[in-house]
Amino acid sequence: MDKQQGRVNIFEETMAHLTYVEIEKAAAERAPILFPVGVVEEHGPHLPLAVDVYGSYLQSRRIKSELWKKGINVLIAPPFYWGMNVATASFGGSFSCREETVISVLGDAMASLKRWGFDQVFFINHHMDGGHVKALTKAIQKARKEIGIGAFWIIDQFFAKRLGFKYDEPHLLIHKSLMSSGAPPLYLSVHAEEHETSFMWHYLPELVNLEVWKTLKPTNLTMKDLLVWGKGGLEARKITPQGYFGDPTSASPEKGRTEMEAYGKVAADVIEDFVRGRYSPPG
Ligand SMILES: [Zn+2]
Repeated sequence: MDKQQGRVNIFEETMAHLTYVEIEKAAAERAPILFPVGVVEEHGPHLPLAVDVYGSYLQSRRIKSELWKKGINVLIAPPFYWGMNVATASFGGSFSCREETVISVLGDAMASLKRWGFDQVFFINHHMDGGHVKALTKAIQKARKEIGIGAFWIIDQFFAKRLGFKYDEPHLLIHKSLMSSGAPPLYLSVHAEEHETSFMWHYLPELVNLEVWKTLKPTNLTMKDLLVWGKGGLEARKITPQGYFGDPTSASPEKGRTEMEAYGKVAADVIEDFVRGRYSPPG
């Protein structure tokens, strides 16, 4: 994985680099699929638009290598990046699709997987925009019902709680949280902040503008601001004039590496538990 520093090719180690012969063999073995989901959207003045795509792709690779150690071979679908952006839509570069587009494209991709013989898909989503979250949920639920595919969203307990998800929804596989437990901090860490800056700095340092990063200040925004920000438009832009929400100044490449590795472990654990029939939602 460390060799990934420098240039990253989002097709490497995904299905897109395999032949049809390898795909058919994996389908015959009912290999589970990891499906990375991100969007192309603004990520502050110091990070490129593709942060969420790289995030979900790199997470999927970590999970794949952790599962391989447990004797579970998975494939990674080509990363999906035409999602919905509401909060950041007023910024240049935030491509935003309609809900039905997201549901249709993800649904068609799952129908293709099912047709070839795959029956388990685990979504690794790196984008928590409210509209996008709804679209992804609907896409997964619709595919389960209409295509009969075992589609699941691998999600951190912290986000499942913040999004108001019911823990026992059949399409959710909730893993223990990597966010600090205890009382939530007053100032929130949401977008293009410490976490995203850190992993980009470790894995794709040539895409982080450190000259600009040095000049940034923490936004010191609260839950009240997040609720307004989530609705998008010019009000959202006023709250985050530079496009980031949180504190990028505390980022470091070392944090990026350790957080990514820790994520790979907890997400692989929950998938292993599920595949081996011993998953139960948190109480
Ligand atoms: Zn992001």
